[in-house]
Amino acid sequence: RNIIIAIDGYSSTGKSTIAKQLADKLSYIYVDTGAMYRSVALYALQNGCVEDETINEEKLISDLDCIQINFKYNPQLGFAEVYLNGENVESKIRTLEVSKYVSPVATISEVRRKLVEQQQAMGEDKGIVMDGRDIGTVVFPDAELKIFMTASAETRAERRYKELKDRGDDITYEAVLENVVTRDHIDTTREDSPLVKADNAIEIDNSNLTIEEQLLKILKLAEN
Ligand code: C5P
Repeated sequence: RNIIIAIDGYSSTGKSTIAKQLADKLSYIYVDTGAMYRSVALYALQNGCVEDETINEEKLISDLDCIQINFKYNPQLGFAEVYLNGENVESKIRTLEVSKYVSPVATISEVRRKLVEQQQAMGEDKGIVMDGRDIGTVVFPDAELKIFMTASAETRAERRYKELKDRGDDITYEAVLENVVTRDHIDTTREDSPLVKADNAIEIDNSNLTIEEQLLKILKLAEN
């Protein structure tokens, strides 16, 4: 029985780590919708849609048809990497710079409409684990299993800081914490599809749970 598993929650709650392993265990497709919004933000930065740290929404919207986002499975990594107009941008979209612009970009309704449509099409084959902010509420309101992940802002910032440090990015813990808090604020207060727990989502606070514990918990839920 193939189902749709929606994993939503705040920034850096480890959604993608869990979603990837879950998809692997179930032989499902994994889709990282944050990577899609990040790719649009990267496009905006690279193509003159950001001036004086402000997004030129009009230009970005008129460019939307030129933005192609695809996923391609990388057998070495065990998950699908994101491509922006044919270029593998999996690493480029993880910088703090992109993280600064992605939430403002994600408030633009035209951007959301385009990406949600593409996400819904990917779910047609079922057997999918999708993570994001609006998967259980907007993209797949009928998903068989909905998880809502939370953890304290400090726990989340520490995890993200370590991740970025490990790959050699020049950043401070304070800058990462500020970004996590700012993104949460923008994501929960935007007009279009704000981040909110779906009524029938199961909340998991993973501040004190290992990855294995979280996986077991969700796998058990998926079996029912
Ligand atoms: O999941 P990730 O942290 O990579 O997402 C980056 C940003 O993309 C989020 O902070 C949010 O602003 C936006 N996003 C969204 N809806 C989704 C996935 C991500 O608005 N389904």
